[in-house]
Parts: sequence; C-alpha cells; structure tokens
Amino acid sequence: VGDSEVRSVLIVGACQAGVHVAVSLREQGYQGSITMVSAEAHLPYNRPPLSKALLKGEIVADSLVLRSREFYEDQGIDLVLGERVLSLTRAGEEGAGLARTDAGRIIDFDRVALTVGSRPRRLAVPGADADGVLYLRDMDDAVTLRDRLAEASRIVVVGGGFIGLEVAASARLLGKHVTVVLPAQRLMARAVGEAAAEFFRTEHESHGVRIRTQLSVTEVISDSKGAVRGIRTSDGDVLAADLVIVGIGADPRVELAEEFGLAVDNGIKVDEHALASDGYTVAAGDCANMPNPLSHGRGAERMRLESLNNATEQAKVAAASLVGARTPYRTIPWFWSDQFDHKLQVAGVAAGFDHLVLRGAVEERRFSVLYYAGPELIAAECVNSPADFALIRGAMLRGHTIPEQVAADATISLRGSAVPLEPELLETA
Ligand code: NAP
Repeated sequence: VGDSEVRSVLIVGACQAGVHVAVSLREQGYQGSITMVSAEAHLPYNRPPLSKALLKGEIVADSLVLRSREFYEDQGIDLVLGERVLSLTRAGEEGAGLARTDAGRIIDFDRVALTVGSRPRRLAVPGADADGVLYLRDMDDAVTLRDRLAEASRIVVVGGGFIGLEVAASARLLGKHVTVVLPAQRLMARAVGEAAAEFFRTEHESHGVRIRTQLSVTEVISDSKGAVRGIRTSDGDVLAADLVIVGIGADPRVELAEEFGLAVDNGIKVDEHALASDGYTVAAGDCANMPNPLSHGRGAERMRLESLNNATEQAKVAAASLVGARTPYRTIPWFWSDQFDHKLQVAGVAAGFDHLVLRGAVEERRFSVLYYAGPELIAAECVNSPADFALIRGAMLRGHTIPEQVAADATISLRGSAVPLEPELLETA
C-alpha cells in the first residue's frame, strides 16, 4: 500500500479509536482527504467519565469533548455527525469502495478504517422493554440515565462488570438504594482475580450497595403504564426498582465488516498491523480482534480488548498501515476502574498464569496482585497503588519481570527492581 495511491480515507465511527486514526494519519504525513462519520450527533468525546463524573453531576457533557470543531477543520478532517453508515460496498480490488449513510449520503474511499466499537448486550427476559430499563454506552444514554436517576430512589443494576459497578457506586453516592444482581460468583469475574473482586465487594457493601451474586433476572415487572416496578430473580424473589440499569457486556459491531467481505470472529479479525483479512482495510478498538504479540512466552494470542488504551494504540498502528508503513502493535494492555474513592488498575492479561503474589495488605486498601507464568510477570492488578502500577507496567513493556521475593514485600520499593527475563528461564519454565 503506497501512500501515493491512497487519496481518500473514510473512518467509520468517531470515538477514541476513530479520532486517533484521523489524528495519526495527519501526524504521519498523510495529505489526502479524511472523512469521519459518526452516528452520534455530538463532537467526539471522552467516554470513561460517563459512568462516574457525568452521572454524579460533577461535570457537564460539553466538557468531555476531545477536540474542538476548529481542530478538525484545521486538520482537514471532514466530520459527518449524526449519520450512520448503513452499507459498505467494494469498488475494485484494493480496499476501495462506497459507503452509504442513513441520510442517503454516498462517500467513496480508497481505504476505510472501521472503528465502530461495540454495542451493549440486551437483557433478554420477558418485560425487558419496559420504560426505565436503561443501558449505558454513549453520551445520550448517560444524560438520560443521569436525569432518570434524579427521579428514582430504588435502583437494580444487572451485571457486576465495570459498567454495573461504576454506575452502582455513582448511584449510591447520589443517595439511591442500589442492588447489584449478577449470575457469577464474584464481581468483575472476567477482568480481575479473587482478591480484587472480594475487596470491591466489601467496599460496595460497606457503602450500602447490596450485592446479590449467583442470581439471574428472569423477568422485568412493570405497571399498567409500562413503567418498570422491579425484577423477578432466579430464586423467585422480587426486587422493587424504579430503574433497572443493565451492564451485561458488549458485542463487537461487525455487520459492516461482514458486508465488506472481511473475516470476523469475535470482532473484525486483524493482524498485528491492524489490517483486516483483505490486507487493505483497517480496524481498531473494541471491534477489532488482534493477535497480541506481547503475551510473551505464551505466543501471539488473539484477543479483543475493550479499553481506551487499546483503542488508542491500535488506532496509531492502523493509521500507519493506511499510509503504507508497518508498525506492529506493541503494548501492554491496561485499563482502570474508579469505584467510590478506589482506583483499580490492571496491566496485561492474566490468562495462563500459574501462580500469583499478593503485595501489600487488602485490609489496608492498598495492594497489588502480580500474576506469573513461571518466572515471567504477565499481569497485575493494583488497587490504590498507582506508583506500583506504573513501575509494573513499565517493567512489562520492556520485557522485564519482577522477582517474586521483591514483589511480595511491600516494604521494598519496586523502583529499580525489574530484571530482564532470561530466555533460558522461559524455556525451562
Ligand atoms: P463487562 O465488564 O463485560 O461485565 C459484564 C457483567 O455482566 C459481568 O459481571 C457478567 O458476568 C455479567 N453478565 C453477563 N451476562 C449476563 C446476563 N445475561 N445477566 C446478568 N449478568 C450478566 O461489561 P459491562 O460492564 O457491561 O461494560 C460494557 C463495556 O463498557 C465494556 O466494553 C467495558 O470494558 C466498558 N467499560 C469499561 C470501563 C472501564 O474500563 N473502567 C467502565 C465502564 C465500561 P460474568 O462475569 O459471569 O460474565
């Protein structure tokens, strides 16, 4: 793919990944046209505060805007807001095609970047379409939720992942009665291990949030006007609620990729250069399923990551691919969650660990869990320990490990403690 042949790039989706593709294209010297289409009417904005500061009324929606309208104009990025791309058809062999939006606009492009994100999974039980069953994905959802929370007193949150717990904490801080219902045994089961899950359960409960694990919703109950009144759970109980907030995961948006003939498997399959199966189209962010070459000795496992850092890093790689450069994705995935006044930061992916080390004391509300595969540090969860987190992630980025005896002793600083991983150690591990 030579830069000279690419004169127009279409970016579908204008969230973190989309905006970073556009900005990186210009940073990398691409001078052709860039059109970025977003179904949302807002200027692209920062999502993490939606479930926290925005819900609690600490900030207004406008403060979340990533870049001003003038920025896009200055950069020659043509923003099309409030229009959804409905179809993508090919024109020729090399990734070129035509997009059609719901407003009837036709956009032709030499290359397309799919930064279309994911959509919240819907609660599939009788009555789930009642008024007051709400989801949180975008700015409009968050504003609706904020306004509805003001009128509500009893909240049921379905799902014990990031959305569920961050919203539960925000609602509780607003003085609401909050119950979280989840089928799993522990909170954030997909993302963190037992120590962190247990810690956050205790903290939620001590703030007055009721946590009901191993329980599913079987029905949403509403009144004669269709307004939600509560839920029925798998143990036959009924929990009264004025609002039911659902956070049960997200599915990648793959329809456009499928229509464009791209391979899809839990997301749009891309290589480590963010190139999809046609070798021309790129995808980045929640919708992309990419091999992660920094899963160390465990090989390049494919994964689809739903995190801001992943969206940003993949977008840079994708932009490079669009201009004909080949920068592989090389980063340690990380994400964070703020609940009440606690900060959880996770680096790496713990899948495949064979032992773990607890650093610090859970009772002191400041600890880290380090996950090892043999001698290799592959992931860590840090609670209220940002300095340790930065050092751990830095070590992992350099391919270093932290000796377990150092990790286990919180009185020893992690600064300067990381050591290169000996290849022979890896082989014998
Ligand atoms: P999530 O973190 O995947 O959590 C989903 C939760 O719902 C899990 O507890 C899961 O249980 C449970 N669940 C799954 N199916 C269910 C069902 N049918 N009924 C009840 N519970 C069910 O997803 P999320 O919290 O909905 O978040 C959605 C997206 O927003 C993700 O992309 C997330 O990363 C993003 N987000 C991120 C942050 C952050 O990084 N701080 C904050 C907010 C949102 P199991 O564990 O048993 O599967």
